[in-house]
Amino acid sequence: MLDIKVTLTQTPKQKPVDESALGFGRIFTDHMFLMDYELGVGWHNARIVPYGDFPIDPAAMVLHYGQAIFEGCKCYRTADNTLQLFRPKDNLARMSRSAERMCMPVLDEETALEGLKQLIRIDADWVPHREGTSLYIRPTMISTDVGLGVHASKKYCFFIILSPVGAYYKEGLKPVSIYVEDEYVRAVRGGVGFTKCAGNYAASILAGDIAEKKGFSQVLWLDGVEQKYVEEVGSMNMMFAYGNKIVTPKLNGSILPGITRDSVLKLAVQLGYEAEEKRLDVNEIFADAKSGKLTEAFGTGTAAVISPVGVLALRDEKVTLGDGGIGVISQKLYDTLTGIQYGRLEDRNGWILKL
Ligand SMILES: *Cc1c(COP(=O)(O)O)cnc(C)c1O
Repeated sequence: MLDIKVTLTQTPKQKPVDESALGFGRIFTDHMFLMDYELGVGWHNARIVPYGDFPIDPAAMVLHYGQAIFEGCKCYRTADNTLQLFRPKDNLARMSRSAERMCMPVLDEETALEGLKQLIRIDADWVPHREGTSLYIRPTMISTDVGLGVHASKKYCFFIILSPVGAYYKEGLKPVSIYVEDEYVRAVRGGVGFTKCAGNYAASILAGDIAEKKGFSQVLWLDGVEQKYVEEVGSMNMMFAYGNKIVTPKLNGSILPGITRDSVLKLAVQLGYEAEEKRLDVNEIFADAKSGKLTEAFGTGTAAVISPVGVLALRDEKVTLGDGGIGVISQKLYDTLTGIQYGRLEDRNGWILKL
């Protein structure tokens, strides 16, 4: 593990006073963690410094060829005022897998985790207190070699920034409406769909914008080959319930392996539901929703945890799921997972890392 040099700010910022107005990713804390990589040297210069701009050469490779990957996880404040992280090692391990695919260096996960812990301890007062709020953690890696030749960069920068975020649901779970995208695709097999790379998001914005204009809050992506099988939604994985059975698309290389997805699959079984990963034909899902066989659908992801789907639209047709409200399974999984994250329920799976 690398030594981490700490430089504290001389000008701490004013912390947000109204925690009901935090929103998402608009405010950043006083400090950030960085480390550099160079081929032949490895990771070095691990440091915590005041949050702020850093210089970047206009010819830096990340700005042209897009070697950029990121992660997202959260730190929660419990009722007895301890701070705890949810599965942070899984996020760092996933980042290393993203890095391999993007021809970037595997992370020094031990130093990154230590840097994250120290950073949060320094900025501990920034972890909000209000019900449902948290500190969002954004680890990022970019290529920094200067030059326009297309090849893997030899230099990289890894950094972590922190942002206090508001409750995703201010008045309890709220169902969303989802539009099945049948023109654009997010990812193809053999591509980079399983990585959290910046480009995947750039490619998804247009469809999201169009869906929003049609009055839907999210896009449901289909597979890139036949445009027939369900992949995922925006920045969430998708799950469907048939009575006591939960089904979700099997990981196939073009779907992001969500940590919430994995947690929900494990919890579902522990709660007595059946869970299955398989290929899901969107036409069957839609028909089952119409006939009432399909009882619930929900997205899973770090930001919302569980996002119940009220309405699903395929081409010119719309169907309301269940009674359009929050399904029992969605609510149960949401209460259980957030219960563990905020320390209200026992963590039987070793997911919590206390600071
Ligand atoms: C991050 C992300 C998810 C959800 O992953 P979690 O680890 O559960 O937050 C799902 N889909 C995409 C495309 C993502 O980027």
